[in-house]
Amino acid sequence: RKGSVVITGASSGLGLATAKALAETGKWHVIMACRDFLKAERAAKSAGMSKENYTIMHLDLSSLDSVWQFVENFRQSGRPLDVLVNNAAVYQPTAREPAFTAEGFELSVGTNHLGHFLLSRLLMDDLNKSDYPSKRLIIVGSITGNTNTLAGNVPPKANLGDLRGLAGGLNGLNSSAMIDGGNFDGAKAYKDSKICNMLTMQEFHRRYHEETGITFASLYPGCIATTGLFREHIPLFRSLFPPFQKYITKGFVSEEESGKRLAQVVSDPSLTKSGVYWSWNKDSASFENQLSQEASDVDKARKVWEVSEKLVGLA
Ligand code: NDP
Repeated sequence: RKGSVVITGASSGLGLATAKALAETGKWHVIMACRDFLKAERAAKSAGMSKENYTIMHLDLSSLDSVWQFVENFRQSGRPLDVLVNNAAVYQPTAREPAFTAEGFELSVGTNHLGHFLLSRLLMDDLNKSDYPSKRLIIVGSITGNTNTLAGNVPPKANLGDLRGLAGGLNGLNSSAMIDGGNFDGAKAYKDSKICNMLTMQEFHRRYHEETGITFASLYPGCIATTGLFREHIPLFRSLFPPFQKYITKGFVSEEESGKRLAQVVSDPSLTKSGVYWSWNKDSASFENQLSQEASDVDKARKVWEVSEKLVGLA
């Protein structure tokens, strides 16, 4: 049978390119988990995906109710779950004030980390039930949350501190809207959320890989300077960033190439190792990359897991 893969945020950028790459093989049915149904339908059509290869299902990661609803709808569809790709993200580099999810968590961490955390925890049951030979749970990471790299050292740097803001509910009322308890900074909140994504992948690996055989993986797909992720940045940045990445840092990858990379992490028989953060070199060959000290801190991973569990109502 065809593999069945759920991709969050498949209505644009990396998620769409991955959906297209997998659908084109004829070996995958892609469930596009998106907050804007019409946008996703238009995106799938204009990418040339044929109807029998995809289904769109509503998911708004900035609402935990919506996450629960998605899981219920998915189960009712009767489709198996073979691979889950946590890809969606928001980035608010120019926001002066924090925005919040339905439950009142700062929006970047609430969407990118907490929404995906609940989704992944709930869908573990479904992954476990699947009889697919190579089951995978993927969380898209980023170099920007990784302070052992040049890009990861551009200020403001990611830093989760002692998690006091997260433990306090990340609501900007009786706690800070930032994980480390500091003043709000939209760019930092995004980077912090990506550290949480990479820590969560490793904690999943430690808790569940041996028992379930599921492959847990993260990746840095390259700098895809043209996606909607930068939509809220100032216009000057948006016009200069793609050529800067192309000609100066040479880290630029097209959306199509990045989609092929993530599709490899979904389906390539040679990328089954669990607990790995994949990256690609200049010749587009994959390799196991090192994470920064904070992004591989075992203690912090466990604490982020435990605090997140409380926030999303699982503990
Ligand atoms: P895009 O903005 O193009 O795509 C993000 C997707 O997330 C969109 O489909 C968006 O939906 C969706 N999304 C946002 N908020 C929600 C929500 N509340 N509920 C459901 N879906 C939501 O950005 P990219 O493709 O660049 O980003 C994809 C991933 O790649 C992210 O995890 C990002 O961190 C990562 N990444 C990107 C890099 C880059 O250079 N671009 C580099 C490294 C990592 P909608 O279409 O409705 O807005």
